[in-house]
This record gives sequence, structure tokens and C-alpha cells, in this order.
Amino acid sequence: MRFLTNGAPGDPRTVLYRRCVIDLARGAITIGEVPCRNLEEVLGGFGRSFQYLGLRDVTDAFGVENPMVVNTGLLTGSNVMTGLRTYFSAYSPLKVSDKGLPSAIWSAGSGKFGSKLKWAGLDEVILEQKADHPVIIVIRESDNGPQVELKPADHLLGKYCHEKILTLYAEYPNAHFAAIGPAGEHFDACYYAAIALSTENLLKTGDDKCRWAGRGGMGAVLGSKNVIGIVAEATDRTVPLSPETRALNKEIATGPGSRKFREKSRGGLGGTWANYEPLEQFHMVPQNNFRPTGDGKPELMFRDALEDDFVIKAESCYRCGINCHKNIYERKADGTKGEYRAKFDYEPLNLLSTNAGVHDPHQVWPLVALVDHLGMDSISCGTTITYVLDYNARHPDTPVFNGATFGDADKIRELIELVGTGQLPELGQGSKRLSEQLGETSYAMHCKGMELPAYVPDTNPGYPWAIAGGHMSMGTYMLVALEGDTSLDYWVKAITERGLYMVRDDLLGVCKFSGLNSETAARSLGEVGLQVTKAELQGAVKRAFIRALWLERKQGFVRDDYTLPSQVLDRPNQAIDAAPFVTREFFAALSDRVWEVFDREIANLPPLESEAAL
Ligand code: SF4
Repeated sequence: MRFLTNGAPGDPRTVLYRRCVIDLARGAITIGEVPCRNLEEVLGGFGRSFQYLGLRDVTDAFGVENPMVVNTGLLTGSNVMTGLRTYFSAYSPLKVSDKGLPSAIWSAGSGKFGSKLKWAGLDEVILEQKADHPVIIVIRESDNGPQVELKPADHLLGKYCHEKILTLYAEYPNAHFAAIGPAGEHFDACYYAAIALSTENLLKTGDDKCRWAGRGGMGAVLGSKNVIGIVAEATDRTVPLSPETRALNKEIATGPGSRKFREKSRGGLGGTWANYEPLEQFHMVPQNNFRPTGDGKPELMFRDALEDDFVIKAESCYRCGINCHKNIYERKADGTKGEYRAKFDYEPLNLLSTNAGVHDPHQVWPLVALVDHLGMDSISCGTTITYVLDYNARHPDTPVFNGATFGDADKIRELIELVGTGQLPELGQGSKRLSEQLGETSYAMHCKGMELPAYVPDTNPGYPWAIAGGHMSMGTYMLVALEGDTSLDYWVKAITERGLYMVRDDLLGVCKFSGLNSETAARSLGEVGLQVTKAELQGAVKRAFIRALWLERKQGFVRDDYTLPSQVLDRPNQAIDAAPFVTREFFAALSDRVWEVFDREIANLPPLESEAAL
């Protein structure tokens, strides 16, 4: 980004970002500076990419007319701790309206790729069209600005994500990497293929310790363009920290905002894994396809229950003091760390263990590891498989696929292997389409085609308004457990005045786990030369969110698309230790009130300005 000094104060057009547009069909590469149209574009992430996508008419996520925008946030590559995010935005094969049109989505990941991309001199890369053979994109810094070229990727095909990254690392030792796995290569049979991002820990150890841009099938879109990986090579920018940034980073690493994700020994709660305990108090941990039973089985996957068999290490991305990665290793007879096994974050862990009826961690870690190796979103993969397990439990005489049902780890592993290698396209299309084909949609746990993360929908009527995945773009999924208010007024405000601001960090380039409050987040932008108030920042975040709703409407989403799996509305789960409140009447009244607010905001949204008018 370049801030001009001759513009009017506060004029976003005086901020330029450097963009590379690659026409993959022709191999044409154009690099130039683009002035920002508004504060959302200055901040970056989906605040910018959705304005690009909003000007396109896309009916097929795998069509050549669907661009992929790879970009960063203003704080990516900065000295602000967790400023490592890369965003991948496109029309999604998975998130679709009932009319069948794909919806714009973004997916974000940490690691070090985004920083390297920024340090190589690019804020954004746009992939247009489709290459006629598998390629990697190599981006390098040079004295004359960023250099970009396409190279053959045949030697990478068929390898697991981390194997691809290690192969590329041997060729580009000063780079970081984004790569798809076998699932992305078989994009038309696995819509929830993800994009892996390299970490320093992965490159050093060779272990599969990728970070993920998982949601919405961005790995499938990249695969549809025949792009197998992206290399970003640049010298690390390490500049001394100012006293302000040092204080800010200390707050991020030790303050209340990141407490949940830190180790207990550092005043934290132990990572997302620790969600098991407060949720299980109320029997809200998903079991057997989001239908908790109250039988106490979730306790078998509490972190403490695994400590005898495994060494659990908190590890980290580049220069991050939160150490949110909870990596498990075998515990040797002498108690020391043995072989690395898998990363245990709450969502992949729950959705491939307790929610699938598998309670033995020795059976669980190979499932979590295999989903990563093959390069799939563990949320969509896990939740689609648990739909199948549920279907088969309900139809013991006419099961589908291999007949897997709850607790059958071997058969679940077989389903993962087959779907991740493109051999089960019916499963790879996600739970919405699969349930419609099977004629049983009531217990398919998705909203708008996006599979639910590991929080029961019975306690989160905010899910339908999430714009890029239920727990990353609508901050309402833990509210019943934390605050317990189930009144209509509370929920209208929770969605329209609180939950939507969860996407702030999807513009800025920092992790949500940094837990910055709005005041501090606005102040943190001073690190890169942008002076904004908290109100200005919140205004930009809200416009970006509302623009995403507008974009959904453009793709045919109507009020009926914004609903919950009907089992939730019609068959309250009495095992959950909280009075059922998401009835059909409650949800209808909530929808009326939420749309009253959001319809008004959509009507007031400034129209998209075409780039030609700049
Ligand atoms: S909070 Fe976690 S994912 Fe984010 S930068 Fe730190 S270690 Fe990486």
C-alpha cells in the first residue's frame, strides 16, 4: 500500500494498493497500482475483494468468469502480532442460493504466506480464466518491483498438501506457500477443498502443520483454475518495534482478548479445544450429528483426558505469542514427545470425533490428519459425513455409500479417503445437495449450503445471517452458553448490532484470536500509517458486511434461504440443558425484526463504483 501525501485528508483515493492480475488462459500478467474507492478497500480483505466480485455476473463457481482474489489486510506483514492473514475470495461452489446460484465468499488463513506476498510487493493477486495445464504461480521481490511467472506443476500432482509445500520449499527456500491437496485437484468431486498455507514450523519439521483457508471451497475454485500452488518469495522485513507497537503486541499476547486461546500456564484457557468443557456443562457439545444426548461421552475428548497418552504442545505462527495451535504427539514410555500426530482445534476435533460418535483419540487423530493431508475443510467434510452417518442410522436396511454409521471409525476413514481423492462426488458436493437428492433435508446441518461448525444450531438462531461460515462471520454461536438470554430483543441486537462486527479482522489482516477491542484495533492501524477513529472503522466493517448480504441477494438469495435445519425448529432437543427457544414462531419473529434492520441497511448502501470510473 502506498499513502500519497498530496490527497485530501481522509480521502481513500490517496491510498494505492498494488495488484497483479493474471489471465491464466493467456498467461498475461499485469501489475499496477490501484486507488482505493473507500475505507473498506483501504483496509483490505473481503472489504476489497467483494467490491470486485460484486461487479461480476457469475452463475457457475467453476466457470472461467469466476475470478479468485488472493489478498491481504492492511496489517498483514506488519509488526502487529497476528498480522499474517491471507484472504481467498471467489464465488463459492458450496454456498448457494436455493435458486442454485453461487454466492461470494472469502476464506482466511494465517501462516507466513500473506506476509511474504506483501513483502514481495503485492497487496492483491487476481486470477482470471483458467490455465490449460496445472501451474504454480511464482511471485518474487526484485529491485524492479514484484516479478510474477507461471510454471508447470506436474511434479506436484497427487501429493498431500504439506508434501507439495515441502517439495516447493526445496526449490524456493526463501519463500512461503499456498497449495491445494488431492481434493482441490478433484475440485468437481469435492466442493469443500481447502487451501493450505505454510508455517515456519511445517518447513522446519516437515510435519503437516499447515494453516488453512478452509471454508467455502476456495481450494476447489483454485483447482478449477488449474492452479496447484502459489509461491511468495521475499526477504523478511524485520524492523524494530515502536514503543506503541510493543505495548500493543504485549496486550495481544497476554491480554484478556486472547485468553481463551493461550495455554493455562500463560493465564489462558487452553485453546479452542477448551470449548468442550463450558459447552458440555449444558450438554451443548455436538454429538451424533448435532444431537447431544447428555450421556457424558464428550468428556472423553476433554484435553485432560488425552494427556496420559499424548504430549500436547502449544505452537505458533510467525512471531505470534498466543500459540493457539494445539499439536498432539505420541507420548513415549519415558513421557517425552514422540511422533507428531495432528492438530486438535475444537471444530475439526469435535466434528470428526464426538459428533461422529467416535470417542477414542487413537481412532480420532488419523481422521483429523487425513482430512488435512487431502486438503479439505474439516468442518464441511465432517458435517457432511455426519449427515451420512445419521441417514444410515435412520435407514439401516437401505444405507448409502459404505453403510458407515456413528462410531464406525474405519468406515469414516474410508469415506474421507474416497471423497478427498475425488471418488465420491455425491458426498463431495456437501450436505445441502446430498440431502436434497436423498429427500431428507431436515437434519442436514447447513445454512445456505455452508455446513455448520461445532456449535449446536438449537442455541444459535444467528447462523443463517453468517456470510462466510457460521462461527467466523456471525459472533453469536456461544452466546447462550455465555449469557443465557433467549429473548427476542436480545437476539435481534445480538445479530444486527454485535455479531456482524466479528468480520472486522477479515478486513484488517489480523487473527480474530488477537481479541482486540474496536478502540485498540483502530489504534493499531496507526502502525501502518492509517489514522481512523473507532466509529470510522466500525462504519467500514458494517458496510462490508451489508455489502455481502446485498451480494447474496444479487445471487438469488431470498428470505426462505435464511433458515435453520428444520429438525431444530420442529423437534427441540430435550437433552440440551437450556430451555428450547428456537421455535418456528420465535424464528419467524426474529427474521422479521432482523430483516427490518438489514433491509434498511442494504437500501442505504452506497452503490458499487466501477473501477473505470476511478
Ligand atoms: S493466533 Fe494462532 S493462528 Fe493466529 S497468528 Fe497466532 S498462532 Fe497463528
